[in-house]
Amino acid sequence: MPELPEVEVTRRSFADAIAGAKIHAVALGKPLRWPLGVAPQALVGQCVMAVRRRGKYLLLDLQQGLLMIHLGMSGSLRFAGHLPERGPHDHFDLVTDRGTLRLHDPRRFGAVVWAADEDHPHARKLLARLGMEPLGDGFDFVAFHAGLRASRMPIKQLLLAGKLVVGVGNIYASEVLFLARIRPTARASSLGPQRARRLHGAIREVLERAVQQGGSTLRDFSSADGSAGHFQLQASVYGRDGQPCRLCGTPVRMLRQGQRSSYFCPHCQRS
Ligand SMILES: [Zn+2]
Repeated sequence: MPELPEVEVTRRSFADAIAGAKIHAVALGKPLRWPLGVAPQALVGQCVMAVRRRGKYLLLDLQQGLLMIHLGMSGSLRFAGHLPERGPHDHFDLVTDRGTLRLHDPRRFGAVVWAADEDHPHARKLLARLGMEPLGDGFDFVAFHAGLRASRMPIKQLLLAGKLVVGVGNIYASEVLFLARIRPTARASSLGPQRARRLHGAIREVLERAVQQGGSTLRDFSSADGSAGHFQLQASVYGRDGQPCRLCGTPVRMLRQGQRSSYFCPHCQRS
């Protein structure tokens, strides 16, 4: 599943190239997770002003309204001057004077949804409950710590829920907690300022590194310009059950939280 770093890498791979492009045509394939919400013809003639990201949504600002693109479980975008004929898994083409933006999504959990603005009910339904952005200036430590203090959930599950901060998926959660030396089962409200500060820094560091490495969690990931995310995440603990901790040599342990696996070092992450 594309995680926030892959979505950000995808955004960077076509944002500059498509900015200012004029839409010539829109082609739809099979239904995606949600309907487009506007007649495709209404988009023709408009310009794409910019491409932003909120959580795992790419937001294409048009002259009128915005297109919200989610890659779902298996979606990927291409943006190129010449693309082959649409195949059976290509479900959205935005044809512009600079090239075509194509959503390829075999499992069709992805979506392209139009909204008049971000306060429109279509947009609010998707965007309003998202937590803080971990990259950029909006990731405020005081608000983050207050959110930790208010939750009785285990910290791993609070991070995964995405309501406090977005982008910390299952792999990243284990890596982030290892870097912050916090056990995944620690109650969020039990984290004092020091550990909260370490966690805040670790979230930024792990996600920024993943973006710099070109998106790392998906083996078949490639960004919209076709370049592959060729660095696999060098995991400290994720997927390393029974193998020695890279810092102290203690065997890494795995436990189940909810339906998901968490990995940690019992020595480095004592509480
Ligand atoms: Zn260790």
